[in-house]
Parts: sequence; C-alpha cells; structure tokens
Amino acid sequence: MKLTELGEFGLISRIAAGCVHEASRVIKGIGDDCAATRGPSGFLNLVTTDMLVEGVHFLRERLSPHQLGAKAMAVNLSDIAAMGGEPLDAYVSIAVPRDLTVEYVDECFRGMKEMAARFAVNILGGDTCAAPRDLAINIAVTGRVEEDLILYRSGARVGDRVYVGGSLGDSAAGLDALRCRRAGEQPECTQLISRHLEPVPQIELGRAVATSRLAHAMIDVSDGLSSDLGHLCEASGVGCEVRADAIPISPELAAYADRCGCDPLTAFALDGGEDYVLLIAGDPLLGAAVPGLIPIGVITSSGDRVITAQGSRTPLRGRGWDHFTPPEARERPKSETGGTVDATSPPRVAGIRRR
Ligand code: ADP
Ligand code: MG
Repeated sequence: MKLTELGEFGLISRIAAGCVHEASRVIKGIGDDCAATRGPSGFLNLVTTDMLVEGVHFLRERLSPHQLGAKAMAVNLSDIAAMGGEPLDAYVSIAVPRDLTVEYVDECFRGMKEMAARFAVNILGGDTCAAPRDLAINIAVTGRVEEDLILYRSGARVGDRVYVGGSLGDSAAGLDALRCRRAGEQPECTQLISRHLEPVPQIELGRAVATSRLAHAMIDVSDGLSSDLGHLCEASGVGCEVRADAIPISPELAAYADRCGCDPLTAFALDGGEDYVLLIAGDPLLGAAVPGLIPIGVITSSGDRVITAQGSRTPLRGRGWDHFTPPEARERPKSETGGTVDATSPPRVAGIRRR
C-alpha cells in the first residue's frame, strides 16, 4: 500500500498498535499534543516531539538560522501549552549537511536557546549526525501539569463554547507572501511573515485556561482550524458549529486578502496551519474568566462539524496539512495580483492545502 493512500493520520494509527507494554504509568499515549505519564505528587509528566525538515517544513534560503532554531523550539513548546502544562527541559537532535557552516549552526542554536530561555526551558541533550543533503531538526520537550488540570483533546462537552487564543490565517498568508515574493510590496506582509517564521507558543494562556478549571478540551492550531477542530471533535465524540463572522482575522490579513482579491477566511483562516494559537472547548464563562480568548462557536451533539454564515450552513471539512497528500491533490496558492508562484517551494502551501 502506498503512504499516499493511507495518509499521515492513517499511518500514525497503524504505528500506535502494540506500542504500550507497561500501561500502568501511561495516562495518555499516542493521539494528543503530548504524552502524559504519572509523575510525582499530583503532577503528570508531559513529553512532546516535533521535527522540522528542510524542503518539507522550510526552505533554508527563506528564513534565517536564528528564526529556524527559535521556531523549532516554539512548535514543541506549543504542544506543552496545549495540555495546560509548564515546559521543563528540551533535547535537540540535528542532522546537518556537511556544507553547512559552523556559523549557521551557531545562529540556529542561538535562536533555539533564546526561545527556550524565554520559558525557562533547559536544553539537556540531543544528538548530532551528518545528513546527506537536507537539514533536519528534531526537538523533544518535557513538561509537567497538575493531574487535575491537564486538558486533553477529548474532553469537549455538548454546549461548550469554542474559543481561540488569537487571530487565524496570518501564518498561512505570511507563507503565501514569502512564496509569491510579495514580501517587499505590501506593508502588512512584514507582520504576516513574522507570524509564519517567528511563532510564539501560548504557554501563559494555556496555564491560565487550565487553572481557570472552566475548560474541558484544548489543542494548538498547527495543522489548521478545520483540521485541529476536527481532531478535537473526533477525540471528544462531538460536533461543532462555528460562526464564520466570529473567526478572528487580523487587520494585516484582511488587508493582504483584499489586495490579493481573495476571501481571508476560505483562503487562509479556515485551513491554514502553523498559527500556533490555542483552540479550546469550555464553559460559556471561560471567555470572561481568561483574557485573550475569542469565542468562535459551540460544541454540538450532532457529530457534524459546520460553519455558519448569514443563515447558510456548510460542512467544516478538515483541509489542513497531511504529510502524505500527493502534491497533485494540493491546490496552488491563489495569485490574483500577478505574484509568481515558486514551484521549488516546499509543498506546505498556505491556506489552500488539501487532504
Ligand atoms: P501535533 O501536531 O500536536 O504535534 P501530531 O499530529 O504530530 O501532533 O501527532 C499526533 C499524535 O501522533 C501525537 O500523539 C504524536 O506523538 C503521535 N505520533 C506521530 N508520529 C508518531 C510516530 N512516528 N511514532 C509514534 N507516535 C507518533
Ligand atoms: Mg499540537
């Protein structure tokens, strides 16, 4: 069977069979933002790991080594945030092509260490090897969370409000601007590109949500709202209804989409990944209790996921990133302002990615 037939999540399900041999200390295995195991005195240990691969997640010439290192750390910390946890230590493995300079690696680690320092995370180990061609960085981060505060993807309840921790689609639009080389042309691009290249994990927000005790489920938006809300609803066995006009669109994204002649919601905010904002299902009182949360919809019993706009109801299909979607099944970025789409870019196409 081909991987493209199975898809990324089908492959993970196959891998998951037969993985646990000593279940008593496992609280959460494969299937959430972090694994959770029993820790000391009322705490759970959290572990997450994420990899960035050249040509898949980034092009070396499109971001600085400092940005690459910081982002590799940030995306891992975001998974700790998504459990309501506090990050502790990191382990960094790198596969380095022989032509890379020492200065590049130095800068990459400077970015990584600065991001780690921001959240008091230690780097305690890792692995280094040569790569035949492409640079790859894998980071594993440990963390901890109180056993009674941890938030899984699976806790959403019918009647919960759905909240997000910030605007959606900026990162996808930033990638689109980079790919189409619109970066210098439009004033709003700087901010959008920064949201793509320099994400900041919502650790404090995740802690505030967890300690409020008003939230029931949480995930970070890495694959895209439509996919990640899909993961949360599937894990919880519920449906959802999201209001199109409630989805937060930044002024920069609105301006960018206006210039491109496309709808910011369908082109970027619904399916675009890598915003690394938190997505939460919780009590209707949560929004008032935790500053910074934006209500976008409700959890329903129907099992269906829909988006409503001016009386119309459309299925909210998960169209975010899947590593094994064949390139020909992905749409190209819309380029209605004459920007040229670079065919050598990685396939992580902004906002318009298809499963
Ligand atoms: P996230 O986007 O939050 O990092 P992923 O979609 O990457 O989550 O992963 C979903 C789940 O599958 C996680 O629990 C992750 O640890 C697990 N997973 C992914 N790849 C593997 C693998 N190769 N072996 C074991 N578990 C995996
Ligand atoms: Mg995640």
